[in-house]
Amino acid sequence: MATIAANLQETQTRLASACTRAGRPVQSVTLLVVSKTFSATAVREAYNAGARRFGENYVQEGLEKIEALADLRQDVEWHLIGPLQSNKTRVVAEAFDWVHSVDRLKTAQRLSEQRPAALPPLNVCLQINISGEDTKSGAAPGEALALARAIAALPRLRLRGLMAVPEPAADFEAQRLPHRALAELQRQLIAQGLTLDTLSIGMSADLEAAVAEGATMVRIGSAIFGQRPTPAA
Ligand SMILES: *Cc1c(COP(=O)(O)O)cnc(C)c1O
Repeated sequence: MATIAANLQETQTRLASACTRAGRPVQSVTLLVVSKTFSATAVREAYNAGARRFGENYVQEGLEKIEALADLRQDVEWHLIGPLQSNKTRVVAEAFDWVHSVDRLKTAQRLSEQRPAALPPLNVCLQINISGEDTKSGAAPGEALALARAIAALPRLRLRGLMAVPEPAADFEAQRLPHRALAELQRQLIAQGLTLDTLSIGMSADLEAAVAEGATMVRIGSAIFGQRPTPAA
């Protein structure tokens, strides 16, 4: 079985080739290592192999890993990428560096109010339901401008950009479509005066398509840690 270090290396190579093919500098895309369902030991292994940014889906599981890896805290970023209920905002505002899954103003307001004064503003992305699926989290594209403006005005948050988890598609061209729609929406928001530097799209199966459409942060789990024990959202 391939080790985490070898998988990480391979993922970085894959990312670099995707950038080259898209005519983009390799440094223009940041790798977020998605460690949900994997142990703190596995995360430490990835850290030892050079990973510095980790994404978690479940608040409690993320908090436990942040705690178990407290010795690395100054050197790593923790990103929440899964759904956030409003009764969990306080611990998230206190413990994480980024939240990619903000999709309503109420959650954003709570995060801003609860972000400790001693910490820098919390980085957030506005999650958009780009494939229009009923069951998916994310704001509707038509709500994006009003929401983005309101979130950008909150004092203890820094709105960085848009995030999406598109419906899986088998081939490259089909994968590009929702990524392109999100990138286009982000361009519209920027044209309206918002300052956004992050487009959070691309997972193990569609990294290349996301980079081709302008992803600046890809969220990669199974390509690095292997198949997750149970199907996780
Ligand atoms: C699990 C997950 C990922 C990583 O998915 P892989 O297919 O394992 O790379 C990325 N983003 C979100 C929101 C996820 O839930």
